Amino acid sequence: MTSSGVLPLVRSWIGGVTRPSGSGRRSVVFNPATGRQTKELDLADDATIAAAIATAADAFPAWRDLSIGRRQAVLFRFRELLSSRVDELAQVITSEHGKVVSDAAGEVRRGLEVVDLACGFPNLIKGGFSENASTGIDVYTIKQPLGVVGIISPFNFPAMVPMWFFPIAIAVGNCVILKPSEKDPSAAVWLARLWQEAGLPDGVFTVLQGDKAAVDGLIEAPQVRALSFVGSTPIAQYVYEQAAKHGKRVQALGGANNHMLVLPDADLDLVADNAINSGYGSAGERCMAQSVIIVIDNGVDSAADELVAKIRKRIAQLKVGDGLGDADMGPLVTAAHRDRVAGYIDTAEADGAEIVVDGRGFTVSGAEEGFWLGPTLIDRIPLNSRAYTEEIFGPVLSIVRVKTFDEAIELINSGRFGNGTAIFTNDGGAARRFQNEVQVGMIGINVPIPVPVAYHSFGGWRDSLFGSAKAYGTAGFDFFTQEKAITSRWLDPAEHGGINLGFPQTD
Ligand code: NAD
Repeated sequence: MTSSGVLPLVRSWIGGVTRPSGSGRRSVVFNPATGRQTKELDLADDATIAAAIATAADAFPAWRDLSIGRRQAVLFRFRELLSSRVDELAQVITSEHGKVVSDAAGEVRRGLEVVDLACGFPNLIKGGFSENASTGIDVYTIKQPLGVVGIISPFNFPAMVPMWFFPIAIAVGNCVILKPSEKDPSAAVWLARLWQEAGLPDGVFTVLQGDKAAVDGLIEAPQVRALSFVGSTPIAQYVYEQAAKHGKRVQALGGANNHMLVLPDADLDLVADNAINSGYGSAGERCMAQSVIIVIDNGVDSAADELVAKIRKRIAQLKVGDGLGDADMGPLVTAAHRDRVAGYIDTAEADGAEIVVDGRGFTVSGAEEGFWLGPTLIDRIPLNSRAYTEEIFGPVLSIVRVKTFDEAIELINSGRFGNGTAIFTNDGGAARRFQNEVQVGMIGINVPIPVPVAYHSFGGWRDSLFGSAKAYGTAGFDFFTQEKAITSRWLDPAEHGGINLGFPQTD
């Protein structure tokens, strides 16, 4: 797409200023609640990609060598500025993503948790010291930054997901290049300006606006030492494999299809409330949304029909509309994504599922061009339907009925994703067995969206995470530092040991 010359242009942020790219390639940014194009995105060309990397590489030595205390002071200023402007950033997010503004503010606050953690970085990167490991010999370890590191983020959390990584990466002395999603690119530039206001030297935080070309540029550049990717599973796998081939440290978090197990003893009102919150919050565009509810239905004490009725009643009370107003749920991010999600409902129906509440064709009066899809509830979804096996990533909750607890565990463990799961029960023994046996990275016990706090790490299993490094927590500090072990002897010239070709032993 070429420039309209009318819409505001969102550009890369390189060396403390916005930088036009010479590519002439543009993509369009929408307000999903109106369906109108509001901005254009200036997609990076090769020269812009090279400039971003060179600028970050130039800034690295001085930032790495700045004292811990001074780096920490910048972090604290960034934290204070961001804490006082959460609502401003939330508006930016909602205007491009569509999620309701209270949810956008929530995403910023969850990101701030990682900034809080990063402010305490000196304590987390202290090395160890062993005095007199051998006679007169000391051994110690130090943790150093990697250099230039890249972050490639998805559309659904334009502030929080980058903040899973960059506060820690910057705190420990790296220079960061963030490549945001083309769908909602403005939050990244807003954050870059805030860093500048906080006193971060230019070049330490760069925003590279672009598409596959920018991602491939980061993958192929030898100066980029590590990549943190979050997005869909096929792209996560691609980035993981290509980045590893280019010798980089890489963590690539992928898609999800999370299951929530409801045991017959659970409080069904609590379950219904949580199913609604988790399934339809942010219009289901969350990698930790529970999209499948498994209910034990053995024909004796089935809770399934009652639960379906309770969820259906709650859906009728939800207000769908512009996220900047008083809605509970906003639109989907683009028309193409809305149509894709609606296509999964078509598939479920064609495969024989029961569409209990149908969100297709939903619209908001006065904003008919918005990317709307109403909350949808599907019962008895066949397990071979693509609407069950694939990630839908929209406001669609599906019910699966199984006969036994073992069958439920088997179902959760047989899919390709292992991001999050939850169990609702009052039986502690069953919950304990569940946490032990499910092959999933993050588990909620009577908690529907079990995103760990900043000092525990975030990451799924199987096709939800490629590579071994989770995000934030101590894993984040390990990912963004490399350790050196130093063995040191200060010789007394009188005690020179002479030549000895044997392997060094402790003595
Ligand atoms: P996406 O994979 O389409 O895009 C993610 C990033 O990859 C974007 O920056 C995009 O520009 C880039 N990209 C897209 N196509 C590419 C290609 N062919 N080559 C190189 N780069 C490419 O994902 P999305 O639609 O923006 O986000 C939604 C997905 O992210 C969902 O699958 C969701 O589950 C996942 N997600 C996962 C987590 C997690 O923690 N596991 C968190 C948030 C989102």
